[in-house]
Amino acid sequence: HKITIAIDGFSSTGKSTVAKQLAKELSYVYVDTGAMYRAITLYAMRKKYITKDSFDEESLIKDLPSLHLKFVFEASRGFAAIYLNEENIEDEIRTMQVSQNVSRVSALSGVRKKLVSQQQQMGLEKGVVMDGRDIGTVVFPNAELKIFMTASADERANRRFKEMKEKGQEVSYDEVLKNVEERDLLDTTREDSPLVKAEDAIEIDNSTLNIDQQFQKILQLAKA
Ligand code: C5P
Repeated sequence: HKITIAIDGFSSTGKSTVAKQLAKELSYVYVDTGAMYRAITLYAMRKKYITKDSFDEESLIKDLPSLHLKFVFEASRGFAAIYLNEENIEDEIRTMQVSQNVSRVSALSGVRKKLVSQQQQMGLEKGVVMDGRDIGTVVFPNAELKIFMTASADERANRRFKEMKEKGQEVSYDEVLKNVEERDLLDTTREDSPLVKAEDAIEIDNSTLNIDQQFQKILQLAKA
């Protein structure tokens, strides 16, 4: 029978890698909730609602009802790309600039309310792997399997740095490490749905596991 799998954890712990593998293996739907927060952030940046030192939260909240997000499967990538009002923004949401602003946007209750409700709709049918920060605590507190992934900040920054370099993005390791640490801090200390391990989540520290070991471990749990 099909279940709901919630994968939460800190930034760059490899949540999406393992979630995608699981979805493929089990023929489940994969939902990257971080992409949704990134999409709203990109919109706020384009409108200049958010800059390094200012944030016009009110204007962003006012525009929210007109922002439509959807995922469209792309055979060439093997997973879904995110669309904002009919525009494919999958690549644009992965930049360092978006990473630097996203945790301020995701702290807004109005933003969380909208996205959580869409995520709950997308997960109405069983057979979903969703990754994020609050899936096991807020979006699907009754998920049959909850995983909480951790790894040292250094390990995570290394991973993210390599990934960004491979994509040809201009970043330094220090910048990436600083961003990972800043997001962890903002995500764990925000008032609305802070990042916290659900009581019944299984914690996996993948500093010592490679991608395949980690995948096998979670796959076994999903089949149990
Ligand atoms: O998963 P990813 O690193 O792409 O998420 C980007 C940011 O979106 C996180 O740092 C966090 O601020 C926010 N987020 C969230 N709740 C989720 C998923 C992501 O607050 N369920």
